[in-house]
Amino acid sequence: MKRRIAILGSTGSIGTQALEVVDQLPDLLQVEVLAAYSNADLLIQQAKKYKPNMVVIVREDLCDKVKSALWDEDIKVFAGEQSLVDVAAMDCVDMVLSAIVGVAGLRPAYHAIECGKPLALANKETLVVAGSLMTATAAAKGVNIYPVDSEHSAIFQCLAGEFHNPIEKLIITASGGPFRGKDSAFLKTVTREDALHHPNWNMGPKITIDSATLMNKGLEIIEASWLFNVPIDKIEVVVHPQSIIHSLVQFADGAVKAQLGLPDMKLPIQYALTYPARQANHFPRFSFADYPQLTFEQPDYETFPCITLACEAFRQGGNMPCVLNAANEVAVHAFLQGKIGFTDIPKHIEKCMSAIPFSKPATVDEFLHVDAEVRKVKCVNN
Ligand code: NDP
Repeated sequence: MKRRIAILGSTGSIGTQALEVVDQLPDLLQVEVLAAYSNADLLIQQAKKYKPNMVVIVREDLCDKVKSALWDEDIKVFAGEQSLVDVAAMDCVDMVLSAIVGVAGLRPAYHAIECGKPLALANKETLVVAGSLMTATAAAKGVNIYPVDSEHSAIFQCLAGEFHNPIEKLIITASGGPFRGKDSAFLKTVTREDALHHPNWNMGPKITIDSATLMNKGLEIIEASWLFNVPIDKIEVVVHPQSIIHSLVQFADGAVKAQLGLPDMKLPIQYALTYPARQANHFPRFSFADYPQLTFEQPDYETFPCITLACEAFRQGGNMPCVLNAANEVAVHAFLQGKIGFTDIPKHIEKCMSAIPFSKPATVDEFLHVDAEVRKVKCVNN
């Protein structure tokens, strides 16, 4: 039986790589739903190739364009945010891949789980914002969340066969981003183009900036804590500039297991979509001959304060991780638009974390209300 998947965010970096995985495994995976926000041209192209049952274009003004391009195909076309939520729950879908960027992924991912759909999760912001709600709902519904993020996939792979063994710590690797080794004075001068130039990974713009500020590691610590039920004081970050070791688990007896591979998201995407099986593919292979040196260093927490801010938000709990995430999304967007400087990103997050009072949201609507409140805070320098 083929696994019928819904790819939410099919036009992005993760979404398009997921389709490359499908190309490798046509007998195992079937694209049932493709969903995009604004890239109607690519969505149409993908729909013609993969012939899904349905497509969603979130921007309603683009619906007619998609409908007329697909008029002679047997494909249903829907538009709007609610359609994204509805398709995630359809009977014809066996698994949902959430590859949407930002908090926009929360409602469809939550609804998928509520409807008992296994979730392959790339959209880490969902767990950062509402990890308690997501994991509690998944447990109540008996639904698994399969990590797509390479670090979490690595930990998940290290834990295979070890789920009952005590974990001493998780070690999450970080490439260090494009500004590894630079000081604060240098960071004040960096441009959008400098920050978008990641040394190892080719990703969407938001996560690329998060990797440059190291907020990405902060978000990943929170994500790992929720996924693997490990407190954050047992989660360590190590900078590993080659991005070959994707993360490690140290068990109670001191043994450390690591997962290695080329920096290529297709492997973790495939593992999430085909779990527990490992299927043969033709993706490039890692060789020690190409990487004679694997190196490790400590992160520079002073120059890159975002990891500490993320840990602080998580320790406070309640609405604070949601505040952190919304403030970061706003600041990254403003930086990408040239409205604020690179070092203003953590300043805006700190400002929001002090400005927004502590609360304990419990539902998706309450989390999204907090998110909307944070978006009203004026950006530093803006
Ligand atoms: P991209 O920016 O490349 O793609 C984002 C996708 O989300 C696009 O399909 C976009 O549609 C869609 N989208 C944007 N806004 C909305 C919205 N409001 N509602 C619905 N859909 C929307 O991002 P990435 O693929 O890089 O990242 C996706 C997620 O995966 C992020 O959470 C990221 O942190 C995570 N991730 C990414 C990795 C990577 O290598 N790229 C690695 C690990 C995690 P459209 O293009 O049509 O506008």
